[in-house]
Amino acid sequence: MTTPTEPTFRTAQCDCGQLRFAVRGDPVHVHACTCTQCQRSSGAVMSYSAWFPEDAVQITGDYTVHHHCGPDVLDRYRGFCPLCGTGHFFRSGASFPDTIAITAGTFAQPDFPVPDFILYWADRPAWIGAPADVQLYDADDT
Ligand SMILES: [Zn+2]
Ligand SMILES: [Zn+2]
Repeated sequence: MTTPTEPTFRTAQCDCGQLRFAVRGDPVHVHACTCTQCQRSSGAVMSYSAWFPEDAVQITGDYTVHHHCGPDVLDRYRGFCPLCGTGHFFRSGASFPDTIAITAGTFAQPDFPVPDFILYWADRPAWIGAPADVQLYDADDT
């Protein structure tokens, strides 16, 4: 007889702590992206996000929404804390329906799941070396 394992429970928050996330279970998908849009929107060398089933995510606090694919694509947006501008999360419309992606750094957890792959590796800043055991794609090859 096996003992049922308790689901992993994680919390995340924006830099000022006003916007908080409580997540049950492991992400269904994790990937990083070094495309130029992700570099601009994150202000970092890559985005690194984890997709969870919508019903596994509890969001507390105020957030602002930016429709990064334009006003005609309302099911794709990025949310973030209006006070400090961090705590980014996403809805990806038809790409990942019924999920919410949360930027992995928001969890500030060293053992957070490794990305399944990294997209747009060709656009990365030249000084970044390849991580071990992560599939790299030069563009969006998924
Ligand atoms: Zn904040
Ligand atoms: Zn990207």
